[in-house]
Amino acid sequence: MRLAGIRKTPLRLIRESIMSVPRVFLKPKRAQPFHARHPWVFAGAIESIEGSPADGAEVDLYSSGASFIARGLFNSQSKIHVRLYSWEQGRELDAAFFKERIGRAIELRHHVLNLAGPNRGYRVVFSESDQLSGMVVDRYGDWLTVQFTALGLSNRREMICDVLQELLQPRGIYLRTEKGIGKLEGAELHDGLLRGEAPPPDLHIEENGLRFFVNLAEGQKTGYYLDQRDNRAEVARLCPGKRVLDAFCYSGGFGLYAAKAGASEVLGLDSSEPALELARRNAVANGLGNISFENANVMKKLADLATTGRKFDVIVLDPPKFARNRAAVPDAMKGYRRLHQMAMKLLDKDGVLVSCCCTGLIAMAELEDLLAQVATESQRDVQLLQRRGPSADHPVAISCRETGYLKCLISRVA
Ligand code: SAH
Repeated sequence: MRLAGIRKTPLRLIRESIMSVPRVFLKPKRAQPFHARHPWVFAGAIESIEGSPADGAEVDLYSSGASFIARGLFNSQSKIHVRLYSWEQGRELDAAFFKERIGRAIELRHHVLNLAGPNRGYRVVFSESDQLSGMVVDRYGDWLTVQFTALGLSNRREMICDVLQELLQPRGIYLRTEKGIGKLEGAELHDGLLRGEAPPPDLHIEENGLRFFVNLAEGQKTGYYLDQRDNRAEVARLCPGKRVLDAFCYSGGFGLYAAKAGASEVLGLDSSEPALELARRNAVANGLGNISFENANVMKKLADLATTGRKFDVIVLDPPKFARNRAAVPDAMKGYRRLHQMAMKLLDKDGVLVSCCCTGLIAMAELEDLLAQVATESQRDVQLLQRRGPSADHPVAISCRETGYLKCLISRVA
């Protein structure tokens, strides 16, 4: 008798939890991407909503034929009405769920990629790539930054911080907010310390034997561009004895690697003074004298350098994201094209061109087409040596290929 009673309780609870979760029904023929585990349900795919979920609440997604697909978090204020997290029926999106999901993300970085260690910098959680749509966690030594781009997760930030604290024991957790997120998601967020101690002014990471200071409170992105780690190392191999131009250098990433690899001279350009202050500080900390930095608008500076007849053997172009939506893509392409045209003028015969593009809406093939056009116009032969992406702590979820945003082409230009 007692046994039967014990068995009955969880079943009833499970049934109640399924029943109590509002249901979102898709329009006919719209279920396929979600069966394939794409996590974004746009308003236009939804036929009806049963119950009245609050923004940020759990909902179950159903096909028009009323079969369960996945559980997600609802937000009427976002174009993405539902973000999906679990494809297991009845699975609550509670602390245990997030602990398991974040734990899997950590497992990849620690036990597959072997990125952990003192003063290391790596991305711990990368949003959709780790089936945690709307949340990014970066680690800089003993500190974490978190960024929420989904209201449902930002509402759960205390619980998520508890999980991060338990799994990673950081000395502090700092919240970074992305511009425009209030408008996109209705989330009122402000940068600031969420847990523990504020990061010290000399917070730094060690990356392939180089030291980088990181200002995670005020620096760009979450303080540093972790995604270029492997590309920097790869480009550095091509730099010994070369004259290197690091255009859009931020805190000196590519340029410092090149200088350490034995480049004859390195010039880093950026239009942000705080970025250049970090870059100069990094050059000193690494004892590198063969590098200088200049505050300049890259487009204008490349034109000026071309008129003086200056040449480089390696040019890295790593501009910021040029387009945030489809409408902005044609102008972005023009910008990339102009940049490449200028770089061709400055690149000596048989030089190496590194073309990075972090605009997710521009595909690798489009970047290659652009390079082909510029090659023709400038009458230079271009050999593609490598087609690269970001470091593996920024994986691509094959079910959500929008996660593959960063392209890096390395070419030799005759
Ligand atoms: N290569 C860097 C990351 C570059 S991020 C690294 O490895 O860490 C893009 C950089 O471009 C930012 O630092 C930003 O300040 C700079 N930037 C944006 N527009 C610019 C412009 N018109 N001229 C010069 N720098 C610019």
